[in-house]
Parts: sequence; structure tokens; C-alpha cells
Amino acid sequence: MLRIAVQKSGRLSEDSFRLIKECGIHFNNGVGKLKASSHNFPMEFLLLRDDDIPGYVADGVADVGIVGLNVVEEKEKDLDIVVKLGFSKCRLSLAIPRNEEYEGLKMLEGKSIATSYPKILGSYLKKNGISSDIHEISGSVEIAPSIGLADAVCDIVSSGSTLLSNGLKEVETIFTSEAVLVAHKGLGAEKKKLLEQLLFRIRSVQNGSNNKYILLNAPNHKIEEIASLLPGMRSPTVLPLATEGWSSIHSVINEDRFWEIIEKLKEAGAEGILVVPIEKMIL
Ligand code: ATP
Ligand code: ZN
Repeated sequence: MLRIAVQKSGRLSEDSFRLIKECGIHFNNGVGKLKASSHNFPMEFLLLRDDDIPGYVADGVADVGIVGLNVVEEKEKDLDIVVKLGFSKCRLSLAIPRNEEYEGLKMLEGKSIATSYPKILGSYLKKNGISSDIHEISGSVEIAPSIGLADAVCDIVSSGSTLLSNGLKEVETIFTSEAVLVAHKGLGAEKKKLLEQLLFRIRSVQNGSNNKYILLNAPNHKIEEIASLLPGMRSPTVLPLATEGWSSIHSVINEDRFWEIIEKLKEAGAEGILVVPIEKMIL
């Protein structure tokens, strides 16, 4: 049985549960329950506050966990970071009152900075030769300057709107984060095998969402040119259409190259292009 720690409710929860579901792992989590298990994969869920996840995984109470890299870094626990998950992307930034001119980090020398991330901030300031008074608070960091608690803040930002509405402006990004899968360092052989299975499924889901299945029609004399634009998994599938002299070409293309390739395909004479999502992709 692989025990996974997941945030009970918060900014990681929805996407964590969605990923697990996309991996084909079903489970029921009753309202308010702290534990759940799956009936189709040997997995047990611990539903926790995100701050507790690195500690639980480091201690081996949970075998793996889904948590923000920011929390992993701050907690300084000895863990394996197995894979980046691509959601809950955010950054840890320094912000100062909006009406102040930013003159570089040196202006924070001797000033007080409120944060929930004293370790990440501390090592950033040290690396940059700045000594400030770090004021650790656990929530609502962004109001600290307006109530006279600190001169600046170091907080999680995604769009920056919370900072703006509190009269602050972002001046330096000190850490970038996303959700990661972490694992206990000393997993036994059985658990390692389950982790490999989970990882295989996660990669299939990730490959699927990074790629699209493409179908198009083309006159036969254009097949070679079009096939060269579509690398596909091996080579494109070519099927004859009922209309003489025409074929249907199927392949897979990467999301990042999508628009660039579509343009070239049209120029090469492709018609009736369909692009459909891929649920899972096994390489
Ligand atoms: P808990 O009650 O579990 O302690 P929390 O209030 O500490 O939750 P959340 O606000 O749910 O934490 O954020 C969890 C994680 O999601 C953060 O540590 C960070 O990695 C990421 N995160 C935070 N804010 C954002 C945001 N605005 N956009 C995207 N991801 C975010
Ligand atoms: Zn938290």
C-alpha cells in the first residue's frame, strides 16, 4: 500500500485530486475525513495541511506527497523530489509599498520584512549580502506594512492582485514554485514498485496533455511533404479516403509547436484538419 499525503483543502487540492483521478485511481473522500483509500489501486490518502506534508513524508508516516516546492524548500526536510506536476504555479516575491521608489535590494538593509517563509527569505538575503529583520507571520502577510508591522513583505504571488489591493508592488522574485511529488528517502522495494507505477501513470497523463492528436485530409501527391511536417510517435498513419487520389493522415503533435505546424500544413495543402485532446500517451 502506498500512502500519499495530499492537501485537504486549498490551492493544491483540486488539481492534486484531478491528477490522481486522471491516473485512473478512484477513491471516496467523505466530508471531513482525514483518510481515504482507493478500491482499484493499493493507495491510501492522508488529507493534511500542506505545511505538514514534507514532515510526514520525511518521517515516513506518508510514503509520498503532493506539495508546493515553496513549502518543500522552506521546511528543509530530507526528501526526494520525484516529479514536477505543472500546477499551482506561483512565485515568492518581495514587495514594498506602492508609493515608494524601488532602488534595489540594498534599500532593504536594516529594514523589517514580514513573511511566512523565513528560511527561503533568509538564505536569499544572505546570498545577496543584505541583513534585514525577518518578521515571521503565518498569514495575511500583505497587510503588515499598512498596519506598521513591517517595511516590506515577502509573499506568494500568482497574479499580483492581492499585493495591489493592499497598496504594495512586487519588486523582486526570490523563488518560483509549482506542485511537486515528493517521496520518502528510504522506501522499501514494494513501495518503490508502486511509486514507479504511479509515476508511469503521471507521465502518461502529462504526455497526453502536452500533445494533441491530429487528423487531416490531403491529396496523395502531398503526403510526403505533409508527413515530413508531422514527426508523430513513429511516423504518421496514412489511410485512403473513399475519394480517389486522397488520403487521411493521422499523427500526434506537441502543444508547443501546434500553431506553427498548423500554418505549414495548410500551406502544404492539408484540408479538414481536426485536432483532438489525448487522454493518455504511453511512449
Ligand atoms: P493549508 O490550510 O493547507 O495550510 P494554505 O492556506 O497554507 O493551506 P494555500 O493557499 O492553499 O495554502 O496554498 C497552497 C500552495 O499552493 C502554496 O504553498 C503554493 O505552493 C500554492 N499557491 C499559493 N498561492 C497560489 C496562487 N495564488 N496560485 C497558485 N498557486 C498558489
Ligand atoms: Zn499551509
